[in-house]
Amino acid sequence: MNDPSSPSGGETAHPGRLVIISGPSGAGKSTVVKQLMKRCDVPLQLSVSATTREPRPGEIHGRDYFFLSHEEFERRRKLNDFVECKQVFSLGQWYGTLKDQVATGLNAGKWVILEIDVQGAMAVLDDPHYRPVTIFVHPGSMEELERRLRNRGTESESSLTARLETAAAEMQCLSRYQYEIINESVDNAVTEICQILMDQRKTTPCSKN
Ligand code: GDP
Ligand code: ADP
Ligand code: 5GP
Repeated sequence: MNDPSSPSGGETAHPGRLVIISGPSGAGKSTVVKQLMKRCDVPLQLSVSATTREPRPGEIHGRDYFFLSHEEFERRRKLNDFVECKQVFSLGQWYGTLKDQVATGLNAGKWVILEIDVQGAMAVLDDPHYRPVTIFVHPGSMEELERRLRNRGTESESSLTARLETAAAEMQCLSRYQYEIINESVDNAVTEICQILMDQRKTTPCSKN
């Protein structure tokens, strides 16, 4: 039993915690999280999700996602390997948070970042085992969201349409999150999220997972 008030508590006074970052596709989550990992003075680990979607140019298996076939994803789902898994957008592709990613991070005292969709976030919130910090990132307007998604140049027209339709529904879930970040400037968004995590780390030294 750790006594968090003990001065010799050291690292054990700061156990790991889950941090959910959600928001519409194209909001800038990946961009912000990449900077956050470099700049924030909290021990962070990004949970690498599994997905059945095709890798984009430059994406690397094991770094950006574990890219699985539908068969392999289904096999792992039956094995109960996921904290949560969902079909995101109406395109039939699966995305899921792997239990081993989360467990490894939390056991090492890390703050484990889940960059996941709203349905997945709600599933984690429904599980009393985790008490995540929840952050919703969006770009301020649907027009800006569409502009960013188009500029990113990664989506077919049908994927773009599905992402924008889903975004409108996802925005309705904003109130379920503890924090709202409007990603106008990446720098400011990173600073704000880092501050949230530093504050949470101060106020919840003995949160149990
Ligand atoms: P991007 O957000 O446009 O970069 O698109 P991605 O293809 O990387 O992600 C697609 C959707 O799946 C997003 O809404 C993610 O937040 C969501 N997502 C990613 N990983 C997970 C996961 O492990 N679980 C769940 N539930 N959703 C995820
Ligand atoms: P997500 O992971 O939420 O889908 P990305 O990080 O891929 O979003 O960002 C979507 C696009 O918007 C990318 O092309 C990225 O370079 C750009 N972007 C991210 N943040 C900003 C910002 N604050 N201002 C302008 N463009 C941004
Ligand atoms: P993309 O296809 O653009 O990489 O991701 C689209 C959406 O899937 C994003 O909103 C992303 O956050 C979400 N996503 C990625 N991984 C997971 C996951 O493991 N679980 C869930 N539920 N959503 C995920």
